[in-house]
Amino acid sequence: MISDEKSTLGLIGPASIASGQIDAVKTAELYQTSLMSALVDGVYEGQTTYGELHQHGDFGLGTFNDLDGEMVGFDGIFYQLRSDGSARPVSDDQKTPFAVVTFFKADSRISLSRISKNTAIDRLTAATQDNLFTAVRIDGRFSRITVRTVREQKRPFPPLQDAAKGQAETILTNVAGTFAGFRTPAYAGTLGVPGFHLHFLTEDRKTGGHVLDFEIEAAEAQLCPMHGLHVELPQSENFLNAKLSSPDMAQRIAAAEGS
Ligand code: ZN
Repeated sequence: MISDEKSTLGLIGPASIASGQIDAVKTAELYQTSLMSALVDGVYEGQTTYGELHQHGDFGLGTFNDLDGEMVGFDGIFYQLRSDGSARPVSDDQKTPFAVVTFFKADSRISLSRISKNTAIDRLTAATQDNLFTAVRIDGRFSRITVRTVREQKRPFPPLQDAAKGQAETILTNVAGTFAGFRTPAYAGTLGVPGFHLHFLTEDRKTGGHVLDFEIEAAEAQLCPMHGLHVELPQSENFLNAKLSSPDMAQRIAAAEGS
């Protein structure tokens, strides 16, 4: 365990690698189960429980078996956001086909006020490293947020871009709450959603979803760059037989995730 945040952060970087100290330093690690490409190809059942994921992070996003809603997590609590607009804490035995978590530790902070999604994304992009995964948390007031929550799917499972067509889309106005998510480098575009992938939960913990668009009133973003990457690949037949290397995968991810 890390006992002194400041000295640990001070050791991260090229100097520590050059001096061979990197092994001794516990840097932030992204831990994920399965791949965005597998989700897009219809692998909607996993064996990983949220109880297991708590061992690897206190912050993150994901979904649930049968695509039963969106997960958003921060401060050690994971929430399930369902297509009826509800939100509830996730129980440890619930399973997921895709989730990304980390132990969030802010490395830098940015104030954002009265700006659109595009301007906010430009500011966040400028403040993060293109070649690193970065966890992003934004707390504040938003004049408008468009969210979607995927609907529980029945067998035979359709590909995500078809399932996403039946998604429940909601516009929240004048709302306070928290975004939790990640910036995925372009080179890793089929592991996650390339660019920013953010989920939202209202301050009253009653609703939220996968973020499609937003307008910030006043907020603070916290950024947590990660130098470690741990991907658990499923053992299921569905995963082993999924067409993960199809040439149109990037387009299918963009179509399904609204990125
Ligand atoms: Zn999402």
